[in-house]
Amino acid sequence: MKVLICDATDPKALETIAEAGIEVVNRPDITPEELEEAIPEYDCMVVRSRTKVRVPVIDKAAKLKAIVRGGVGLDNIDVEYAKSKGIQVLNTPSASTQAVAELATGYLLALARHIPQMTASMKAGKWEKKAFSGIEVSGKTLGVVGAGRIGQGVAKRAHALGMTILAYDPFVSEGENIEFVSLDELFKRSDFITLHVPHIKATHNIVDAKSIEMMKDGVYIINCGRGGTIDEDALYEAIKAGKVAGAALDVYAEEPSKGHKLYTLDEVIGSPHIGAGTAEAKARVGEEVAQNVIGALS
Ligand code: NAD
Repeated sequence: MKVLICDATDPKALETIAEAGIEVVNRPDITPEELEEAIPEYDCMVVRSRTKVRVPVIDKAAKLKAIVRGGVGLDNIDVEYAKSKGIQVLNTPSASTQAVAELATGYLLALARHIPQMTASMKAGKWEKKAFSGIEVSGKTLGVVGAGRIGQGVAKRAHALGMTILAYDPFVSEGENIEFVSLDELFKRSDFITLHVPHIKATHNIVDAKSIEMMKDGVYIINCGRGGTIDEDALYEAIKAGKVAGAALDVYAEEPSKGHKLYTLDEVIGSPHIGAGTAEAKARVGEEVAQNVIGALS
């Protein structure tokens, strides 16, 4: 049995797979062309988000039994097509929950207190006490769009910070210290809004000019979920107009996103899709990937 590792994966996971008697070929920089050429001889492939597993690759994967995705979202894989060919598609859904929930919680405080902007100012040799007057999150209302694993994780942490929590989720209606409301009501009542939904038809540009119009003046928006759920042009205009006080973004409509116009605005802070990027989450993803590979090939 042979497994092709297509994206950077925890070395310990590769050791565990090899110890189970499976041949591991580690090609974390494999190109789409090289992948199409190599895939026929493999029984399993491991990807993160970089490698796309589309129809042409699946069509060439004559021996493939499983595609293992280290992470949550499966948008880089043609899942239904793979399944129709008898290929299992497995992911590691809860391995990064804490990491992403902590990043979103960090952004709540970073936005409220302008921490990245103050740091840049200090590094520039300035002492700008008046420019960076902030607000407290305690006593404010957080709207969580998508009350799944990560959304509820953020809710728990924000509740501990003294926030009132609203949530909207068409499939979830219970959660500790959470008031479930309609999406419109969430937009109208929240001081901070955080998105934790997959990018599907129903969530495409769920935050757009129309929904922003409904929001409180001076609202803060956080997206550590998926790109494509915010209309980035609308967000840009709303920040320029002062309607939205600031935004923290980890995900973008197009990735990698370099030189995005949103980053020309002082009110925008963010990161390069690194929500799951903690030592602990990477180790957990690695462990679950290894178990998925071994399970699928045994
Ligand atoms: P989850 O499946 O547990 O939660 C997603 C929730 O969204 C579900 O409860 C679902 O009912 C809800 N939902 C579906 N359609 C909706 C709609 N139209 N409106 C509102 N809610 C809707 O997933 P999770 O583990 O909590 O992950 C949440 C998101 O975070 C996913 O998109 C995932 O890809 C993303 N994620 C990002 C990173 C990162 O690095 N930034 C890492 C891991 C996960």
